[in-house]
Amino acid sequence: MEKVAIVTGSGGGLGKGIAKRLGKDGFNIVLNDINQELLDSTLEEFKKDGLHVIAVTGDVSKREDQFNLVAKAVEEFGQIDVFVNNAGIDVVSPFLDIDEAQLNKTFAINVNGVVFGTQAAAKQFIEQKTKGKIINACSIAGHESYEMLATYSATKHAVRSLTQSAAKELAAYDIRVNAYCPGVAGTSMWDRIDAEMVKYYDDMEPGDAFKKFSEGILLGRPQEPEDVANLVSFLASDDSDYITGQSIITDGGIVFR
Ligand code: NAP
Repeated sequence: MEKVAIVTGSGGGLGKGIAKRLGKDGFNIVLNDINQELLDSTLEEFKKDGLHVIAVTGDVSKREDQFNLVAKAVEEFGQIDVFVNNAGIDVVSPFLDIDEAQLNKTFAINVNGVVFGTQAAAKQFIEQKTKGKIINACSIAGHESYEMLATYSATKHAVRSLTQSAAKELAAYDIRVNAYCPGVAGTSMWDRIDAEMVKYYDDMEPGDAFKKFSEGILLGRPQEPEDVANLVSFLASDDSDYITGQSIITDGGIVFR
């Protein structure tokens, strides 16, 4: 039977790149996004590429949406094998200006979303009595916290922590839980971070924040979705069966742990 992978937030950005790669690896793909327009266009593109794919709209911060996502995947393909908790949002703010709404929204999506996605996937794996892989979007900001990105960094530290706790509890069910930690990739997330950062620094122009963060990359270029997808493909494969609870950095050489 063909394996099935769910990737949240896969209408665009890194999630789309990951879903495309897993499709090429032979998985049936379940796309998910809150952005209906983006989701529809990615679904059409994947179908044209000959991938076996469905799309389920949903908000990862809502527990019932995550369980519905798994249910729809099982309805269509009969089982699930991999669940990628990819969806996440950024927020740029000086520490002293962080407000309650920003904090709550960012934690709801980046942290609660990972908890609910993990619960929905793990309960299905346990019911199926099969091996399962849960793969979370962490970040270099889950290993080191950045100025102007305090809230975002805190959520990604939480993802690293949840990855460890879930791995410890779920190993008994043959479920591995790992995370990928990208560096600086030029997705719409970075367009937004860049646009926000330049507002706070008089000497910065649009594009400068992205340039500044990219400059230090040892391998000499910003990250592409394919770079991230290479790691996720490995974590989704049998080759990573002896790895669990790890949050692995893929950043071209920015943060060293
Ligand atoms: P992105 O370009 O903003 O794409 C994220 C996708 O998720 C968008 O389509 C977005 O829809 C969707 N989404 C947002 N909120 C959602 C929700 N509540 N439920 C379902 N989908 C939702 O971001 P990305 O750069 O691809 O990042 C993907 C993941 O990698 C995130 O967890 C991010 O923190 C992490 N990451 C990214 C970088 C980087 O450099 N880009 C670095 C480290 C870690 P909308 O378009 O409507 O917002």
